This record gives sequence, structure tokens and C-alpha cells, in this order.
Amino acid sequence: MTTLVANFLKKIDNDKELEATVRFIIAEVLPPWSEYELGIGFKSIYNVVNTLTNASYKTWLDYFNKCGDIGTTVMMLLKEKRVVTPFVSLKPLTILEVYNTLINIAKIQGEEIRKRKEKALLSLYARASPLEAKYITKIILGERRQGFGEGLMEEAIAKAFEVPFDLVHRVNMLISDIGLTAIIAKRGKNALEKQSIILFHPIKPMLAEKAENLREPIREYGEAIFDYKLDGARVQIHKKGDKVKIFSRRLNDVTKSLPEVVTTILEKIKANEVIVEGEVIALSKEGKLLPFQYLMRRFRRIREVSSLKREIMVKVYLFDILYVDGRLLIDEPLYIRREILEKIADKDIIIESIRTSDLETVRKFFEKAISEGHEGLVAKDPNSKYTPGIRGKKWLKIKASPYTLDLVIVAAEYGHGYRYKYLSDYHLAAYDPKTDQFLVVGKCFTGLTDDELEMMTKRLKEIAIRQVGRIVYVQPKIVVEVGFAEIQKSPHYPSGFALRFPRILRIRDDKAPREADTIDTIRRLYEEQQKKKQKIN
Ligand code: ATP
Repeated sequence: MTTLVANFLKKIDNDKELEATVRFIIAEVLPPWSEYELGIGFKSIYNVVNTLTNASYKTWLDYFNKCGDIGTTVMMLLKEKRVVTPFVSLKPLTILEVYNTLINIAKIQGEEIRKRKEKALLSLYARASPLEAKYITKIILGERRQGFGEGLMEEAIAKAFEVPFDLVHRVNMLISDIGLTAIIAKRGKNALEKQSIILFHPIKPMLAEKAENLREPIREYGEAIFDYKLDGARVQIHKKGDKVKIFSRRLNDVTKSLPEVVTTILEKIKANEVIVEGEVIALSKEGKLLPFQYLMRRFRRIREVSSLKREIMVKVYLFDILYVDGRLLIDEPLYIRREILEKIADKDIIIESIRTSDLETVRKFFEKAISEGHEGLVAKDPNSKYTPGIRGKKWLKIKASPYTLDLVIVAAEYGHGYRYKYLSDYHLAAYDPKTDQFLVVGKCFTGLTDDELEMMTKRLKEIAIRQVGRIVYVQPKIVVEVGFAEIQKSPHYPSGFALRFPRILRIRDDKAPREADTIDTIRRLYEEQQKKKQKIN
């Protein structure tokens, strides 16, 4: 696959066209942090196809049920039921035309957004052949069933322009823009080597592995830095002068949801240009720590921030610095980065932390963190670099609570009794990166409060694809953290596994569906669990 893609990329002269091609192949139009959003769901696609074919929603569903794929549904309907003849007089669509149209759609703002977006979309679909329409649909919906993701694209770019993969990967992690990475790679090895961060393009965050116990970090690093693990949301903050942008762990721009954090950064950081990382937590008016769910409300409802701001306060605690006034710091050891952070940021916005090799001291610090309502600790190697986009052994998280899984809701059922009007029972799926599919591993009935149920029902209906009886199938968009008693083998589910007594602990809007736990992780956990059982027996 990478050779095929590489050979194609090689043939493209125009930079913009290269950028478009690279994005389209991985089913992306804009990077996640872009200030614009395509904002087209499958309902808009249905409306457009309806205009071209007169196909009723029932016909749409019949076709969808045959193939289970929206792109193919569009293709079949256009092939078989088209009533508006294609504009044959026009030239065939080009990659750049499709790209420019989609970018223009993303930029539409103001009155009657949906109507205007659909009108522009219609102009595209009216010219597309059925097969082209299938893939335009997949790109718009971000469907990547052909299994060609960003990692493989980095390989294809390296192959196409004969540059080292590691350099391509590093640049992509630094600037989080695969399209621009391709353009830089085309200029050659030198250009890649010279590429630094771009302020206001997020850097892919470094992630943590799980530690087995409090002793492990000391065994691994000798002396270790132990930070509080706050139960909030990861943020990366970019500042230049008085301009501040905040990015979530999914690299979305969440600046508008967190105005107080912008103020804090402007008041408490003494540097002109800076990139820092930290955790944002939610507090009640009285200053009491609030569960993660409250914070996610602030992240989601940008328009309502001013009213939520009165109910839910947010506070940021910084734990890393990646760049300051022209100096890239990611290759400096952590202890140096911390020293710099302490110099430029006020003490009260820096995470609570100790550096020690004494187990007893760590134990006390861990207990203190838990008693203050935090999740646990993150242990870090003081000599480690910041490795963007990598989950490695240099950060180890230690939590008090047992193992949980992050899974994606793929269907929901209406409940019983007083819950009859809520979608209260969820089909939970793990991700299979090999096929880009979500495979069900369990159904779960409880765990959310009535308020959360109401909100979840609304959200699920917005992403519904079809309904069979009382089951509503939805696009795989919402990630939830799930506790469970045990993993069992299951002949019922195609995944081959089923969770025993799953319960939803929280909604993880800070995670993308493809960041959910994978079927391989579930298999590994199952094997570990079996080994433990054998030991006990
Ligand atoms: P979890 O589900 O355990 O929160 P995760 O999968 O979201 O983990 P991990 O990379 O496994 O992400 O855990 C690290 C996360 O912990 C960070 O992304 C960040 O949001 C959070 N965190 C809280 N405090 C710290 C800290 N002091 N240093 C680093 N990360 C921290």
C-alpha cells in the first residue's frame, strides 16, 4: 500500500495538490486543530443525495442496510436512481477542486449555515461520478476503512521523496499537519531537519504507560520525578505576546471554552513566546474539586460558557514546557525543562511534585494525592526527552482505582420503566486498527445519572444512522471509560470477547474514537487475567 501511495505522490508537482491528496487518502480534510470545521454530517449528505435522486429516507435506509456503509449507499443510489443528470458539459472533477470546495464549505459562517453548506456540497456531488461520490463521502465523514492511516502515510511520504522515515515522523509530530509535512519532505532531508515547531500548531502530546506499582519508577529511573495525576483534561497552551491558544489532547482548539485559563496564562507567565502543557481541572464555586464530567461540559458547550462559567470554575496546573522564546526544549532533559518552567511561571500554577528515590516518601505523597481527591501520580524520568506522540516508559502513571477500558458506543437501546424514553443501554466496542472497525465487546445498562442520560440520548440521536426496533445504531463517535469485572471469551460477538458486568464510569470526550482501547489490548488483558487465575488455582 505504501509503495502504491508513494508512487502516486511522486507524480504530483503542485504543493497544494500534494497536501490535498495526502489528507484525502487518510480521509481528512482539515487538521483537527484548524479554526474551521467541515460541519457536515450524514444527514446533509442524505439531503444532497435526495435532491439528486429523489430517494426517500426509507430507500436510503434499505440501501444502507444492504451494505452497511454510507459511501457505498451514496454510490449505489447515484448509479441506480439519479434523476438530475450529471453536468456532462463540465470537465471532470480534480483533486484540487474537491479540496477547495470542501475548504470553502468549512469556512462558511453566519446565517443558515447548514443550507449554504448543503448547497455547496450539491455542486460537488452533482459533478461527481458515483464512484467519486463514494470516496468524497468517506473523506467528509472521516471513514478510513481501507486501513491507511497517518502512520502509513508518513511511510509513503518518506518513500516518495526518498527521505528518512524518522525525520518525516518527527516533523509530523511537531507540527501535527500531515499535508504540510508532505510538502516539507518534498523539499528534501535538509528542509525536514531544519523544521522546528510552528507556534499555534499543536505538538502531538507525549503519553504515559501504566506502572505496576509505586516501586517500578524507582527501579526504572533511580531517582524519579513524581507529579500529582490530576483528574482533568490535558491541555497544550501556545502563547505569543497576548495571543493565547489552548489545544486539547485530541488537538482541538478549545480556547473559547476556557477563557479563565487564557487570563491565567497572560498574568502568570513571564515569557513572550511559549508552549506549555498541563492539566485543567474543574472546581465548584466553593472551590471543591468536581468530577471530570463537569469539565467536559465546559469543553463541549462553547456557546454556553458564560453561564457555565459561573457554576464551574476551571484551573490549570502546568507540568511541562516545550518551547520558550525561540528555543525548542523537547530534547532537553525533563529536569531542565522543569527548571525553566519554574523560572517563567508563577508557582501556584505549577503541578505539585517531588523528586525522590525513597519509596516511603513516594508512598506518603501518593496517599496525600489520593486524600486530596486526585487520581494518583505520574512518575517521570528526570533525564528523559519529551517524545511527541509516543506512549512510552518515560512517564508512568500510578492510579488507585483498578483497570478500566476506553470503549466506543456503536449502538444504544431505549430503556425500560421510567427510562423508556432514554437511550440507556449501550453497545460498547473496541477498536480494531487493522480493519478500522469497531467491534462490540459488551452491553452495558447502568452508570450514568439521569441528567447525563438525557444529554447522552440527545447526542446519540444526533449521530444515529438507523433504527431497528428499539436499537439505534450510531456513528462511532463517543468514547466512554468502562469498569468491568472480567473479560470472557464470547461466541456471540464477532470480536470474540465479552466484558462481564461492564459499567460506564465517565464520558471521555477528550479521546478520539480511534484512541479507544484496541481489540489487541483486550486480548492481552484476557491472557494476563487467565495467567493470574492459573496462579491462584
Ligand atoms: P487515563 O485514562 O489514565 O487518564 P489517558 O489514556 O487519558 O489516561 P495517559 O497518557 O495514559 O492518558 O495518561 C496521562 C494523562 O494523565 C495525560 O494525558 C494527562 O491528561 C493526565 N495527567 C494528569 N496529571 C498529569 C501529570 N502531572 N503529568 C502528565 N499527565 C498528567
